[in-house]
Amino acid sequence: MTTPAVDASGQAHLDLPDGRGLEFEIRSSAKARSLRLKVSARDGLVVIAPNGVERGRVMQLVASKADWIAERLSEFDAVRHLVSDALPVRPQAFDLPALAESWRVEYRPTRSQTVGARTDQPGRILVAGAIEDVEACQAALRRWLARHAKVALSTWLGNVAQQTGLCYTDLAVKNQRTRWGSCTAHGRVSLNCKLLFLPRELVRYVIAHELCHTLESNHSSRFWAHLRQFEPGSDALHGKMRDAWKLVPAWAQRGSGSLL
Ligand SMILES: [Zn+2]
Repeated sequence: MTTPAVDASGQAHLDLPDGRGLEFEIRSSAKARSLRLKVSARDGLVVIAPNGVERGRVMQLVASKADWIAERLSEFDAVRHLVSDALPVRPQAFDLPALAESWRVEYRPTRSQTVGARTDQPGRILVAGAIEDVEACQAALRRWLARHAKVALSTWLGNVAQQTGLCYTDLAVKNQRTRWGSCTAHGRVSLNCKLLFLPRELVRYVIAHELCHTLESNHSSRFWAHLRQFEPGSDALHGKMRDAWKLVPAWAQRGSGSLL
């Protein structure tokens, strides 16, 4: 059980079940009838408390909702990044740190109504078709990214499985909006193609994390103990995942233009 701490100023701290720490604000309100939790992209977590409610009760409520809070905040982490990159652009180049690769992108107009992207030569992607449609160019690059990631992450997952002795049955590579990966109790692993924008150590962490879910399907202390055994730096790496969304360029986010 994680216990939030509070100081006199209304600022409080909560350790989230996924390992993140969260500073939040408690606002006393004469109008409020009951305790309310508000999670927003701008303010994070704010607790509205009726005047006179004991801090202990506020903390109890917040701790009991920690899973829900962590999930909401993860969604906002993904969205906040999109908001900062408002105008859709055609990327000219990008790096994939996970694979130590740099790619240049060339755009070629054709009479085609659609847009396709393919590897033209080492380090160069050719995007061809109705390239005046920036959204369509981005979508084509996302499909390229998913294909590229499927190949790279399949090999990587296989290697980590071999090193750890953990088994999986299947891999799906998707462009999830708010998750880096998941794993069912039957060992079906799903990984986010945007992992390729992260440093190698974080990709390995996510893979080891998902494989450990074949042993424990939850985030209990037993799960973290397994993970530490396979990935000794896992606590620090888990903390770094919080900001990892910022490493993903806006074009790689599914539907990045329409969300705004
Ligand atoms: Zn997990």
